[in-house]
Amino acid sequence: MVLSTRLLFKQPSLLRGRSDVVTVTPWLAPIVWEDTFDPLLIDAMYKPMNLTIAATVFSVGKYIMFLKDFLETAEKHFMVDFRVHYHIFTDQPTEVPKVNLAVGRQISVHEVPKLNRWQDISASRMKIIHELIKQRISQEADYIYCLDVDTKFHFRWGAETLDRLVAQIHPWFYDMPRDQFTYERRPTSTAYIPNGDGDYYYIGALFGGMVEEVYKLVETCYKNIEVDSAKGIEAAWQEESHLNRYLLYNKPTKILSPEYLWHDQRGKTEVIKVIRLSQVLKNNAEVRENV
Ligand code: UDP
Repeated sequence: MVLSTRLLFKQPSLLRGRSDVVTVTPWLAPIVWEDTFDPLLIDAMYKPMNLTIAATVFSVGKYIMFLKDFLETAEKHFMVDFRVHYHIFTDQPTEVPKVNLAVGRQISVHEVPKLNRWQDISASRMKIIHELIKQRISQEADYIYCLDVDTKFHFRWGAETLDRLVAQIHPWFYDMPRDQFTYERRPTSTAYIPNGDGDYYYIGALFGGMVEEVYKLVETCYKNIEVDSAKGIEAAWQEESHLNRYLLYNKPTKILSPEYLWHDQRGKTEVIKVIRLSQVLKNNAEVRENV
């Protein structure tokens, strides 16, 4: 294998590390921050594996306006030099922008209905992704990442993120105590997390991993959303609450620091050395259905 002693024994990569942030969970999963990994070494390991990475993104109703920037910036920073298959779900297939894709990258457009409430559009994603994994992605891709569209890439978002089950610490909660996490607190909901429990507060706008692991995740979450819905319950933060509950009992094997999805509204804090992807400022009243 070409990944040789030259890369493995290069001193600087062995000296990487951070003392200002936690870089490993209590169950020994890495938490990925800038300067905790060597991008050259990571690429040399993963590129020869010839992987296919699926990325799902929903662009329904007015959210179609975010798609062009999302795709154009993804082409510059998201899994560059990997085979990437974007799956775009929209109610307006003819409005999907034409974007120049690098070799080995492709887009599939899937038509979905526009639901009445923004909460339903957001929460319906779990079931739709589940169906597409079953129909196609399980045969076509090795990894899948599920992303929000109202975002822009700014910096490398690469193979260091790949693992079995991957989630990200929410950029508004990474520096907050656990009792302030906005988990679902009603025991009647299947997303319930009791006070005092929980590891991190994970963001619903980004999760992923190996296709079979993400399949289990979305299956559990969408079924729990349906159980709640039959009882007239909507979890505090819709699918994000269900994701947090799932990840409490199915620990992620890798956790991404908030560098991997920041929010433009939050100024850069000291521990954030790079912003790789960021949620753009948006006027909720203008873009969301039935606010
Ligand atoms: N979304 C959409 N159309 C909508 C509402 C949501 O396409 O009317 C999708 C879109 O991908 C968006 C994601 O669902 O990025 C999450 O919704 P939103 O951004 O409103 O949630 P937030 O992250 O602001 O809580």
